[in-house]
Amino acid sequence: MQPLTNRSQVVSNKKMTLMERIYLPAIIKGMSITLRHFFRPKKATIQYPEQKRPFSQVYRGMHVLKRDDQGRERCTACGLCALACPAEAISMVSAERKKGEEGLYREEKYAAVYEINMLRCIFCGDCEEACPKEAIFLTDRLVEADYLRKPFVFGKDELVEPMEKSKRIDVSKRQTPAVLKFKEQKQYAHNR
Ligand code: SF4
Ligand code: SF4
Repeated sequence: MQPLTNRSQVVSNKKMTLMERIYLPAIIKGMSITLRHFFRPKKATIQYPEQKRPFSQVYRGMHVLKRDDQGRERCTACGLCALACPAEAISMVSAERKKGEEGLYREEKYAAVYEINMLRCIFCGDCEEACPKEAIFLTDRLVEADYLRKPFVFGKDELVEPMEKSKRIDVSKRQTPAVLKFKEQKQYAHNR
């Protein structure tokens, strides 16, 4: 059959020698590597969570659903993030904005329910790429471990950023200089 990729390799079926069959040299070699690392002064482990390693600026951790400058939720429940998600981790229920809710939701349609199953999520960032409203971003926050499955379905309570400007989640590091320059132009409604 024609291979799908050129990554296939022919496996050698040659007979093992006596030394290979008794495994001893391989075990000694493996143990010597382990011991060499064991007595090395440089420690590879850290005391997490008291100590934390610095994260990359574009680390892909827990998502945030952003608000605009006026505190309105940016998400319009278009569903593109859910469509783009290879793990089918995102689900949502849309609703129509009512009169008087203009200060809460930016668009006429919003996500009444928005959930991400963090046990399914592979933190690929495709949802962020797909969003036309700059509503969802991955951040450098970790999804904390738990013993149960249920707490890993994150709803709007966990995902939407706080209304207070001082508590907003900064995602500017995830954006290219060209995007940041464009966002300075407040004449475009998208940037307000
Ligand atoms: S990061 Fe990837 S897997 Fe996780 S919700 Fe977004 S698209 Fe789905
Ligand atoms: S987060 Fe973005 S892509 Fe997903 S439903 Fe909301 S507006 Fe659409």
